[in-house]
Amino acid sequence: MKHPYKTREGGATVTIFVPYDCKNHCPFCINKGEYADLTGFSAEKICQSIRTMDAITPYCDFVFTGGEPFANLESLQMMLDTIPTTHKVYINTTLPVSEHQSEDDIVAFTERNKDKITCINISRHMQRYVVESNDALLSRLAVPFRINCVLFKDYPSEGLVPYLERFLKVPGASIQFRFDYTATTPENLYDQEGDRILQDLKKIAPYTGLDGCRMRCGFHFDYKGMELTYHKTLPYSTIVETDPKDGVTYDILYDILIKQNGDIHSDWTGVLMDVDAYRKVVFEPYDLHWIEGSARA
Ligand code: SF4
Repeated sequence: MKHPYKTREGGATVTIFVPYDCKNHCPFCINKGEYADLTGFSAEKICQSIRTMDAITPYCDFVFTGGEPFANLESLQMMLDTIPTTHKVYINTTLPVSEHQSEDDIVAFTERNKDKITCINISRHMQRYVVESNDALLSRLAVPFRINCVLFKDYPSEGLVPYLERFLKVPGASIQFRFDYTATTPENLYDQEGDRILQDLKKIAPYTGLDGCRMRCGFHFDYKGMELTYHKTLPYSTIVETDPKDGVTYDILYDILIKQNGDIHSDWTGVLMDVDAYRKVVFEPYDLHWIEGSARA
């Protein structure tokens, strides 16, 4: 049954899948299959969908992901230029350097776009699956950056401290460890006792607090002055709930996706969004709040 949409104040986050691939083959990649055939991929259609989403929610966050957003700086620039500065913009990347794209090219791109990019989220895994650019490049970026690292079931616990020490040497770095979201359920989202990653982190860094909402949560730590978060999120982004005040059952949207061909989806699970219905979306206060502790001073 179709329900009217509800989302948080400001609007659901809009994740944009760039219309070109990375050159890596990470064994855990869940997006690679979508890039096997580029037929119908279109930066222009993506830009049209960005304009549609901007018109409905002019203050929502945008996230570029892929594929590899930095694999085609010209196309990324065109899409970035379509987003007015009312929005926060995040870019998920491995920060690829090649014979066609130097460190200086990437630094110059961030300088040109420092008023448009809120933060660059750089994937650095404990086991190296991709050719990584030099860590020294990170501190040269003209915009804030964060290191993202997914910890899978069999990750080596003894690798955590060396990993943290590596980025402690990089001025401006903060780290976000991420639970494998395909294994997250409503039951284990907030589980602390049975969560191996959480217990491992509590042994090596002072725990400072927990924030979260229905959909995701973040356990916060301070590692020798470096901000460290452990993030968990559900594998879908729609919650069906009946509002006790009006008795109406809503699809509550947390994430909206713009796919490589410009299609707009209301969930990660392949559901096309009814754009006209979203124009009438009902807003609720964002339920993300501090559950234990508080933000770092
Ligand atoms: S770099 Fe990212 S998109 Fe490319 S294969 Fe690895 S996980 Fe997938």
